[in-house]
Amino acid sequence: MKQLKNGLEKDGQSLSMVPSFVTGVPTGNEIGTYLTLDLGGTNLRVCKVILEGGRKIGNIKGQLYEVSEDLKTGDVTILFDFIADCVKDLLLKEWGNNIQENDKIDLGFTFSFPVIQTAIDKGILLKWTKGFTCTGAVGNDIISILQKSLDRKSLPVKVTALINDTVGIALAHAYYHSEVVLGAILGTGTNGAYFEQLENIKKLNHNFNPLDKMIINIEWGAFDSEKVILPITQYDNKLDKESNNPNSQIFEKLISGMYLGEITRNIMLYLIDRSLLFNGLSSENFNKHYIFETKYMSIIESDNTETLENTKQILENLFHISTTSLTDRQIVKRICQLVGIRASRLSSLALASIISYCKMEKSKCCVGIDGSLFEKYPNFSVRMHNTLKEFFGENADKIGLHYTSNGSSIGAALAALLANQSKL
Ligand code: BGC
Ligand code: MG
Repeated sequence: MKQLKNGLEKDGQSLSMVPSFVTGVPTGNEIGTYLTLDLGGTNLRVCKVILEGGRKIGNIKGQLYEVSEDLKTGDVTILFDFIADCVKDLLLKEWGNNIQENDKIDLGFTFSFPVIQTAIDKGILLKWTKGFTCTGAVGNDIISILQKSLDRKSLPVKVTALINDTVGIALAHAYYHSEVVLGAILGTGTNGAYFEQLENIKKLNHNFNPLDKMIINIEWGAFDSEKVILPITQYDNKLDKESNNPNSQIFEKLISGMYLGEITRNIMLYLIDRSLLFNGLSSENFNKHYIFETKYMSIIESDNTETLENTKQILENLFHISTTSLTDRQIVKRICQLVGIRASRLSSLALASIISYCKMEKSKCCVGIDGSLFEKYPNFSVRMHNTLKEFFGENADKIGLHYTSNGSSIGAALAALLANQSKL
């Protein structure tokens, strides 16, 4: 909570507390048709979103495009030209010939990386996270790079809003529920965004009404990147050193889907090296970085067969560990549980601090959450709820943890609409 306040006061703090320039809370009565883009984790998503008012959304027509390793690590214009091609593809599918010559379609762009915004349609990339390393992007305005790629292909599209995915979820959730405190992502990466009173955002020079609210993108993935607050193990340190962004995003590296499998692999390797696991034998395959993905932890954690058969399949067939004993498999399952439990407890810590900061710990409230970890990892939400009980006692039952899919598309459409309204 102290760090939240520091980040609102001045720039350059460990929590960036990025003002989103999205002011006003959606009422559910918004109406309009928008193009939305979501880039941030594993896929690119392009959608047509129709806000119908009355807290209703039309059937979202969208398409997922895989972002290859080459695109993630090449030059940013190649990545954004690829994005423009995907936009063209969806325009043809969903709008066809129904686009008037001089009519531009408004596009809301959900871009899930740390950006410093100076307006709703202007955002400078601070740094890449989650395995992206494209050249030519850090320090530059993401909207103008995208607009140039779209213009090169003569597409009738105007990028009107840039938002973080967490801002999208907070907006989308507010469209449906009035008691939302924050939006959060627990997926490839992790982060949260909440509604802040403008008068509290001390570092922002603005002409807004101080009594209005603005959504703040916390960038909590960077919490404790100095490694002075949380207990960090040797397995975490090994992962951090070997990552492409050492000493950065430390909280994210303890929690999110991109990393949990690798922490687990590090622990197993440690036990193998002491001949406490698999008779001291690893395999060529198992020695590869990031080969043990978090999705395998999900399968192992939910393996309730007596002899842990599913776990055996994964270790022996997929990772070519020559043989495993039942004890080996029980140890592996226990390691997965420990890493999974720690991640869910730390996620609750983030939620609890925002809820307390907003003085909502005794009220009925809800959190909109998206991300593969929250959606698919066994018991993740139950463990989170149990941890909230340790903080808030029985009051934790008043806190709804709502899984929201489509949050970023609906949120981007709402942001594109709010951007036009604030220009009126
Ligand atoms: C990024 C955030 C994003 C989060 C979840 C983090 O790596 O820094 O901007 O919200 O991932 O996608
Ligand atoms: Mg995402």
